[in-house]
Amino acid sequence: MTRKPAQIVVLGGGFGGLYAAMTLQRELAGSGAAQVTLVDRRNYFTFTPFLPEVAAGTLGRAHVTYPFRFLAQKGRFHFIQGVVRTFDLAERVIRTDTTTIPYDHLIVSLGGAPSFFGNPHIEAHALTLNSVDKALAIRNHIIHLFEHAVVESDPLRRRQLLTFVVAGAGPCGVEVAAELHHLIRTALLKYYSVDPSEIRILVVCKGDRILPHFAREMAETGQQTLVKRGIEVKLCTQVTGASGEHVEFNHQEIIPTRTLIWAAGVTPNPVLAQLPAPKSRQGGIVVDEFLKLSEFPEVYVIGDGASVLDRRNGRPYPALAPVAIRQGIRAAGNILNTLQGRVREPFRFDFTGNIVGLGCGMALVNLLGLKFHGRLGWWFYRMAYLQRLVSFRNKASLALTLALNAIFDRDISCDTWPEADRSMQCERGIRPLSPIQGHRSSPDPLSDCPRCGARAAGAL
Ligand SMILES: Cc1cc2nc3c(=O)[nH]c(=O)nc-3n(C[C@H](O)[C@H](O)[C@H](O)COP(=O)(O)OP(=O)(O)OC[C@H]3O[C@@H](n4cnc5c(N)ncnc54)[C@H](O)[C@@H]3O)c2cc1C
Repeated sequence: MTRKPAQIVVLGGGFGGLYAAMTLQRELAGSGAAQVTLVDRRNYFTFTPFLPEVAAGTLGRAHVTYPFRFLAQKGRFHFIQGVVRTFDLAERVIRTDTTTIPYDHLIVSLGGAPSFFGNPHIEAHALTLNSVDKALAIRNHIIHLFEHAVVESDPLRRRQLLTFVVAGAGPCGVEVAAELHHLIRTALLKYYSVDPSEIRILVVCKGDRILPHFAREMAETGQQTLVKRGIEVKLCTQVTGASGEHVEFNHQEIIPTRTLIWAAGVTPNPVLAQLPAPKSRQGGIVVDEFLKLSEFPEVYVIGDGASVLDRRNGRPYPALAPVAIRQGIRAAGNILNTLQGRVREPFRFDFTGNIVGLGCGMALVNLLGLKFHGRLGWWFYRMAYLQRLVSFRNKASLALTLALNAIFDRDISCDTWPEADRSMQCERGIRPLSPIQGHRSSPDPLSDCPRCGARAAGAL
């Protein structure tokens, strides 16, 4: 009698889930021992490290996304597009918005969501960068503000339009600020007649230094580079409030601005709260060293949604792509071990270094203790990420676009104001930034969003 193939379901096709699914399918190819199904709310993989460059218009959607069906068609795995709603671990089924999926082994890699630390005003007005749609919406927003600034006669209002606040000075915040500066200096100032002295880019962070995961001297080099370009770095500063017209620092300083880009915190995906497992203080699902739940050994949780302790130093692994990738490969390996009657292996990860882009052809690199920056760092940064892209299509189009960007100006066309506004508001169901002078976005009678009454441009 032939045995039914084991059903292995991977929830989330981000860094953790995609590498888990690809590892499983590669190892199981042709064996008939198991069927691998990947489930994601989007039908494409997103290469998040390049989202700051999408927000700055250097790269576009096609460079940072890759359809799962291209991989599925190559026999890698089955793909189902759906939003995971509930887990029934006792019955071993997952329910999405469209279907119910049974499993024998489950890998949950549903990532994280921005954390606003419980501040509804910040949540309502901050722009986030955790998807390609949101990155494109930031790009549109910035270009629109320049379109408005050139016709704005009130100098205070113009200054408000041209002030950009980035909250968070980890790699994402630093890269966004640097890329934003690059966009403004190399493209926008060329085509918009605004006085450069009216433009302000501020990076604010709660701690006493930027890039806390980097060696202190490298972080200082990074900070000096930003400051030299005119980017203001505000340390020991917390964003405590926001509206469509201003951002508040430390409950006392008010900065008139229409742009707050939020790169200050990540929290595990809220749907994970349903899992019957202990949670860390930040809400991460606590798993054992094999990455599984102790009560449900067939369920693995990995990536930004998991809390995995590095037993060597007692600290949790950080929410980073290389950690998620290695966890995906380890969880897949442990399922294969179980199927083949071997014991599971614990997860271990040693960092080989870290890297952050500083825009303008510069980056900071720390590789196996070797620290360098500047142009060399930039080439290394580009090469490191280029080889991480999942497909040759992405690699080729990225290399081509970077070459073209060196010759031609980047695209500064953008959607009309209400469309851009809606794309930002609808996933959160909140009102858009208040309109400037006559660009009022009226409620749409055919709208989807129950709270604000607008339809998302490109929202799922
Ligand atoms: C702008 C930005 C820049 C970053 N830059 C870097 C960097 O330079 N270096 C670095 O190491 N890390 C970086 N990171 C962090 C890195 O992206 C994460 O650590 C990594 O993606 C975590 O992998 P994951 O598999 O846990 O989650 P993700 O990669 O986020 O994948 C989660 C997947 O789950 C899907 N999903 C979510 N909810 C549902 C649901 N309910 N139903 C179905 N599917 C769902 C999502 O669509 C997504 O595909 C960056 C993150 C961001 C947002």
